[in-house]
Parts: sequence; structure tokens; C-alpha cells
Amino acid sequence: MGTQAETPVEITSLKEEGIRIRWADGHEAVYPALYLRGQCQCASCVDEWSGEKRIKTEQIPEGIHSTSIEAKGRYAVSIHWSDGHDTGIYPFDYLRKICPCAQCKRPWP
Ligand SMILES: [Zn+2]
Ligand SMILES: [Zn+2]
Repeated sequence: MGTQAETPVEITSLKEEGIRIRWADGHEAVYPALYLRGQCQCASCVDEWSGEKRIKTEQIPEGIHSTSIEAKGRYAVSIHWSDGHDTGIYPFDYLRKICPCAQCKRPWP
């Protein structure tokens, strides 16, 4: 069981603006689509052995947005992107960790 801070109660696609997530502890933030696409952890975006990022921000097409968001069990969501990339699974605890809001102090890129 995740903690409240790692349990989203609402995930909304705002198209080009990104994805808004409201968490069970009341925290709410918008993840810019470009940022979130760049944080994908799948095998084609991150080297499985070295952990090195293969996807670069400049390789992500402008106007990237999510085309669908799908629950993967109770612990993750899969996000399909407008560039055709659909293998990314974002666990909730990971999403909370990479929260880009000022309060969580994770400036981007
Ligand atoms: Zn990926
Ligand atoms: Zn935050």
C-alpha cells in the first residue's frame, strides 16, 4: 500500500499544457507534457544497464501531449504520447518524486 502522498485521486490530461495530478494528501500539480515525456523510464528511453537517459528533450516533438492515460493496476499509469510512444509506465511513487511544482522544488528541465 502506498501512502496518501503516493496515491492520486485524479489525473487529468490538459493536452499541450500537460497532465494535472491531484493526490490524496491534497497536493496538486501540473506536469508539463514535455517534462513528463522526458522522464519516461521505459527501456527505449533509459538504458537498462547504465540507467542513462536515451531520450533527449530536443528529440521530443513540439506540442507533445498525452493521447490517453490508462491505469496499470493500483500503482501506476501508462501514458500514451502524441509522438506514438506508448511503452512508458509511470509508477505513482515515481510521479510524486518528480513533481515539478515550486513546493517540491524540482525545477525543470
Ligand atoms: Zn519511454
Ligand atoms: Zn509538488
